[in-house]
Amino acid sequence: MTSISERLAATRARLAAAEAAAGRAAGTVGLIAVSKTHPASAIREAYGLGQRDFGENYLQEALSKQEQLQDLGITWHFIGPIQSNKTRPLASHFAWVHSLDRLKIAQRLSEQRPEELPPLNVCIQVNVSGEASKSGIVIPELSELAAAVAELPRLRLRGLMAIPAPDTDTANQRLAFRRLREALVSLELPGLDTLSMGMSDDLEAAVAEGATLVRIGTAIFGARPARAS
Ligand SMILES: *Cc1c(COP(=O)(O)O)cnc(C)c1O
Repeated sequence: MTSISERLAATRARLAAAEAAAGRAAGTVGLIAVSKTHPASAIREAYGLGQRDFGENYLQEALSKQEQLQDLGITWHFIGPIQSNKTRPLASHFAWVHSLDRLKIAQRLSEQRPEELPPLNVCIQVNVSGEASKSGIVIPELSELAAAVAELPRLRLRGLMAIPAPDTDTANQRLAFRRLREALVSLELPGLDTLSMGMSDDLEAAVAEGATLVRIGTAIFGARPARAS
């Protein structure tokens, strides 16, 4: 069995190779370790190897792990679907929310962000795969939402996030990520510096198209057990 240490090292090497292949400076792409379904002990292990950013999808699960890992200086990213009645813990327990796709949620997060914390970093999730994907805002509606989110005082709009429909063809992977990059460029708002895109199976394509944060789960922690819903 491969260890987290070996997997994390291999992922870092993949990321460095992808940066080099894309002609991008080493270290320009941030690595978020997606730890959903994996125990707090796995996060602690990766942290011990220098990993600082972790992504979680399920709020209750994330809160429980955060409680067990309070002694660590982790930057927590929420990357899962957001329920409108669960925004308060999101607003107080995370540094980033990547999966924003409705103004109502954004308004609540801004209102509920504790005063003693810096503004919550947010990305708007965009549907770049048409009907093959149900989450994320469609591109024609993006600029209106982005402009409204940018006005909210306790949020800091950083950029865009996408989860393209799985596709093993590299050219198709790149096309989806290119759509996200072009959508970011088309937003004429200050301070946008983030393209959150790329997972275990399409990291290279995402980096080639300008990802600034990749979200990697399986390649670091191994396969996830099937989750009962
Ligand atoms: C699970 C998940 C990931 C990580 O996926 P892997 O294929 O395991 O790397 C990244 N982003 C989001 C939004 C996820 O839900």
